[in-house]
Amino acid sequence: MPSLFETDIAALKGVGPKRAELFRKLGAPTVGDLLRLYPRAYEDWRDAVPIRNTLLNEVNIVKGTVLRRPVEQRIRGGMTLYKTTITDGADDMQLTFFNNRFVVNLLEEGAVYAFRGKVTGTFTRREMASPEFVPESRMQDMVPVYPQTEGLTSRIIANAVKEALKLLPETVNDPLPDSLRMEYALCRLEYALKTIHFPNSPEALSTARRRLVFEELLVLQLGMLEIRRAGARQNPYPIAQDCTADFCALLPFTMTGAQQRAVADAVRDMQGAHPMNRLIQGDVGSGKTAVAAALCYTVMRNGLQAALMAPTEILATQHFESLSALLAPCGIRLALITGSMRQKARREALEGLKSGEIQLAVGTHALLSEGVEFDRLALVITDEQHRFGVGQRTALAKKGGFPHTLVMSATPIPRTLALMIYGDLDVSVLDELPPGRQPIETYLIDPAKRCRAFGYIQKHIDEGRQAYIVCPLIEEGASDMASVTAYADIVRDYFGNLPIGVLHGRMKPKEKDAVMADFSAGHTKLLISTTVVEVGVDVPNAVIMMIENAERYGLSQLHQLRGRVGRGQYKSTCILVTEAQNEEAVQRLRMFCSTTDGFKVADEDLRLRGPGDFFGERQHGLPKLKIADMMNDMQVLQEAQQCARALLERDPQLAGPALRGLKAEMHRLFAASGGTVTL
Ligand code: ADP
Ligand code: MG
Repeated sequence: MPSLFETDIAALKGVGPKRAELFRKLGAPTVGDLLRLYPRAYEDWRDAVPIRNTLLNEVNIVKGTVLRRPVEQRIRGGMTLYKTTITDGADDMQLTFFNNRFVVNLLEEGAVYAFRGKVTGTFTRREMASPEFVPESRMQDMVPVYPQTEGLTSRIIANAVKEALKLLPETVNDPLPDSLRMEYALCRLEYALKTIHFPNSPEALSTARRRLVFEELLVLQLGMLEIRRAGARQNPYPIAQDCTADFCALLPFTMTGAQQRAVADAVRDMQGAHPMNRLIQGDVGSGKTAVAAALCYTVMRNGLQAALMAPTEILATQHFESLSALLAPCGIRLALITGSMRQKARREALEGLKSGEIQLAVGTHALLSEGVEFDRLALVITDEQHRFGVGQRTALAKKGGFPHTLVMSATPIPRTLALMIYGDLDVSVLDELPPGRQPIETYLIDPAKRCRAFGYIQKHIDEGRQAYIVCPLIEEGASDMASVTAYADIVRDYFGNLPIGVLHGRMKPKEKDAVMADFSAGHTKLLISTTVVEVGVDVPNAVIMMIENAERYGLSQLHQLRGRVGRGQYKSTCILVTEAQNEEAVQRLRMFCSTTDGFKVADEDLRLRGPGDFFGERQHGLPKLKIADMMNDMQVLQEAQQCARALLERDPQLAGPALRGLKAEMHRLFAASGGTVTL
């Protein structure tokens, strides 16, 4: 449909410049985009009930004959009312429309319509204000409900879509070639588009939807496989020698069985015919870093370089420090690359990486910046992967001429979905916590008990432990800084001379590092912070995580925060403070208190927030999908995956003329998300 995607929305009948602007805002700047703006639901007018059975103060659908044309009635404030009465043969109902002179012409005396709106009035005199309505002839239709924006009602959008469908040529270029539609039993694009907007029946709708979902997921999957195709290359850096045993000897602990298996999986990959492409999934505290370190060590012992990318500066610094402590004594040179480095330090680090003298680079996304070059980058590890987009991941891989890649994630992702997000990827699961961990107890308290919680913290600090308090934004709209510092004052009042650290997002990276370093070293006993501590910081001596305004955070985020404690031999506690009264919020937090299982928490989070949000664009960096719902369309997802593989196997460049349409869709999808796919 290239021509319709080049046709401005304003070209449609009934769409003037003002509305065109609204359509643009809704994500439909062209006619083609409008056709791909799918209804979010359908209203079924067949659900009409007799007037006397309508429920007061609820939205009902009734069917009735208009007894007289609406009459105009002016009231104060320049308002005009239009009133009419309908009957369903047994009872009457009074309808009122505000400032809508069009209804005078739309509602004909003696004709039957279905009306949908909130019913008010009394049992004997029922009324409906500003109902939506359709003529009887359309009562069999399912009426589309669109995502709306101020000034664009569903009906306006539906009318524009109708006009757009008129422009749709019957032989519209279908990106899915006939052979493929046959193979997977999919309907034609033209039918799918007409039906998705104006279905005749639920069955027709599901046929149309399946086809569109399939197409979208296929296009996405082809793009992902293309990004991943590097994986099918020859292994440019085969690892000759497995040195992980030497590394394990350096560790102060023995690796868990799960850690050993993950390390062995990865080493086997790197010794194989193709570059490694593996995801390591493990709950917070399962020991992903040690696995990463063992692999870096092996790569470096084989005379190659590795890079470890972390999502925050604090975390990068922490990885750098713990790895330095382990690796520097064996003569390995490491560099920390962050956005806030001094010019001179940066230059030295870059020179070292380029010449190969420095074997390991640890850093933030600054690793991706220009000027960061490697001599023989053989392994790229990204931590807490869901925070990086697909594009960023490939950018780092490109610096190394297709190195081995390892992704570490604490977010449990269903396997099929992982395949979609990460391409053709192998998975190791760390399903075993290091020994001696005691389960974290989690409590929910109201602010009245805050002082008792402070007392509890004091007691543990007296015993030599440390604690975190994650602090709220005290005033709406106040900066992090103001809130945290104000809160810190309250805490200082209570704790007197106790050395307290304060951490927030507005601080300079150097300052953050210093605060974190003081806490790590045990100089400060209590760390008051915003959620910047969320990701990955590791201070095993910290045993209490107190979270103010807990209701403001998603369950997965709370789980990450809670994962900052319980990382050593000591019994740890998480305290959630909330003044929320709302049953749902309290229920959610209670559920969180009842489990420490990250998979359960993620499931619940998913259930509550819905997949769109959980796996939102922000999280995985994938292009935004218009129709497919990756959690609920799992079946189609698998078929699309299989189809994508088969297509690329037969025609690796997708060069065949029958695939031109698919290729174009692929470019459109990834271009919209700012990603790059080159074929
Ligand atoms: P995460 O998977 O959350 O990244 P880390 O790698 O940060 O977990 O490990 C959490 C803590 O557990 C660290 O203090 C680490 O040193 C320690 N640890 C990791 N593996 C083991 C093990 N096998 N035995 C004991 N402690 C371990
Ligand atoms: Mg970690």
